[in-house]
Amino acid sequence: MERIQNYLGGEFKDSMTGDFMEVYEPAVGLVYGSMPRSTQDDVHFAVDQAVKASDSWAALAPDARSKWLIRIAEAIEHNADQLAKAESKDTGKPITLAKQLDIPRAAANFRFFATSILHSHTPAHHTNAGIFNYTNRHPVGVAGCISPWNLPLYLLTWKIAPALATGNCVVAKPSEITPMTAYLLSGICERINFPKGVINIIHGPGPTTGEAIVTHPDVSAISFTGGTQTGRRIASLAAPSFKKVSLEMGGKNPNIIFDDCNLEAAIDITIKSSFTNQGQICLCGSRVFVQKGIYKKFRTALVESARNLQPSDPSDPNTKMGALSSKPHLKKVLGYIELAKSEGGKILTGGNRVHLKERCKDGYFMQPTIVEGLDNRCRTNQEEIFGPVISLIPFSEEEEVVAMANDSGYGLSATIWTENLSRAHRVSKSLKCGVVWVNCWLVRDLRTPFGGMKQSGVGREGGEEALRFFTEAQNVCLKI
Ligand code: NAD
Repeated sequence: MERIQNYLGGEFKDSMTGDFMEVYEPAVGLVYGSMPRSTQDDVHFAVDQAVKASDSWAALAPDARSKWLIRIAEAIEHNADQLAKAESKDTGKPITLAKQLDIPRAAANFRFFATSILHSHTPAHHTNAGIFNYTNRHPVGVAGCISPWNLPLYLLTWKIAPALATGNCVVAKPSEITPMTAYLLSGICERINFPKGVINIIHGPGPTTGEAIVTHPDVSAISFTGGTQTGRRIASLAAPSFKKVSLEMGGKNPNIIFDDCNLEAAIDITIKSSFTNQGQICLCGSRVFVQKGIYKKFRTALVESARNLQPSDPSDPNTKMGALSSKPHLKKVLGYIELAKSEGGKILTGGNRVHLKERCKDGYFMQPTIVEGLDNRCRTNQEEIFGPVISLIPFSEEEEVVAMANDSGYGLSATIWTENLSRAHRVSKSLKCGVVWVNCWLVRDLRTPFGGMKQSGVGREGGEEALRFFTEAQNVCLKI
C-alpha cells in the first residue's frame, strides 16, 4: 500500500487527526494507497508555513526564482517515467498519454514561467513635462491552488508555477481522487532542497480541506480548476473577503464541421477531441455539428473509427483508451447514456461498460459512445458529461450552427473545420467561448490566454494573464 503524506513547511506529515482517505486504481477498481484527510487545523498550519516563507521568497531576484523553477522542471524530466506510471495508475489514463502529454507539460509549465519572468516588463507612462508614472507588480502573498483529477500534475503545476515565479508562496490541494503525482512532486521539492514553506501540498476532500484554504484570511488569491458547481461555491466563499479568484470550469464544447473541410483530418482529430483521456478533458468536444452535405459520410467514418478504439489496460504502451477516473464518475456517465435514450437519442456505437480480463476485470472502462437524433436544447446536449460520449447534430446554414453552438450555459472552447478562411474568421469571432481551434485541436502555446466565458470561467490563465493574476499592480506617480 502506498502512503501519501502532506508536504508542509518542507516536511512530510499525516493529518493532525491521523485520519486518512483511500486512493483507488481505476483500471483495477481496487484501493492501492491512502492519503491524509486534512482538517482546517492542517490547512492553518500549511498557510502559516507559507506566510513565514513569503518575505524571503518574494525578495529573491527573478533570476534566482527562475533558477529554482528550472531545477523543478529538470527533476520532473529526470523522473518522467516514474511520474507517468504514477499518473496512469492513479487516473486510469493510458501510460503513453501520460508520457507524451501530462508529464512533459508539467515540466514545461515550470520552464515557461521560469523564463517568462526574465522577459516580462511593466509599463511606464509619461504624463506631461516632469511627471511620469510607472507600475510595480507585487506578489499577492499566499496563493491557494486547487485542481481536478483529469490532468492532475499538468493542471496543478499550471497554477503553482506562475504563482511561484511571481514571488508568491503556495498552498496547493490536488484532487482527492488523484493525489499521487502531487505527492511525488513534494518529494522532488524535498530532494532539490527547495526553500521550505514556499510550496505546501495538502491533501483532503474539497468541502473541508478545500474550503479551509478558500476561506483562510491569509490566502489572498484562489486559482481553481474544476466543476462549475464547485466554482460557484468557491466564488461565494471568497467574495466577502474580496480575494482574487480565477475559475476554470466545465464545458459543453461544440465541434463545427463544414461541408468544405478536409474530411480526413476532421474525422481523425474529432476522434481525438472526443475520446482522448476517455473524453475527460475540459476541452473535449461533446456536441459535434456536421453540415448536411457530408453528414452521412462523416457519421459512417466516425462510427467506424470509434469502434476501432476500444479500452484496454492503461499500463500497456499500445493502449489508446483507458479507464474512467472513478466508480461514481463511471456511474454518472452511464446515467447520461440512459438519459440520452430516454430523450429519444439513438446510440450509433458504444453506450456500455466494458469488463476487461484479468487484472482489469473490475476496472471502470466504457466504450466510446456516439449518440444521434437529439435536439441541441435537451439535457444530454446541455449538461457536461465529461466522459467518452458525443452527440452528432446535423445543420444546414452557418448562422444556424453558430446559434446552436452558442445556445449553451458554457463557453469554454470550440473547433471549426473549414477550408474557407473568411468563414473561419467570421465564425470564430461570433462564438461565445474563450478558445477556438480552426482545423486543429489542443494545440497549445503557453503564451496565449486560456479560459472560458459564461459558466466556464472567470479570468484567464497562461502567459501574461497568469503573471497578472498572481500579482497586484501598484502605480507610482513621480514628479521631477
Ligand atoms: P471538482 O469541482 O469536483 O473538484 C476540483 C477540485 O476542487 C478538487 O481538488 C476538489 O477537492 C476541490 N473542491 C471540491 N469542492 C470544493 C469546495 N467546496 N471548496 C474548495 N475546493 C473544492 O471537479 P473534478 O470533478 O475534480 O473535475 C472535473 C471538472 O473539472 C469538470 O467539470 C471539468 O470540465 C473541469 N475542468 C475544467 C478545466 C478548465 O480548464 N476549464 C480543466 C480541467 C477540468
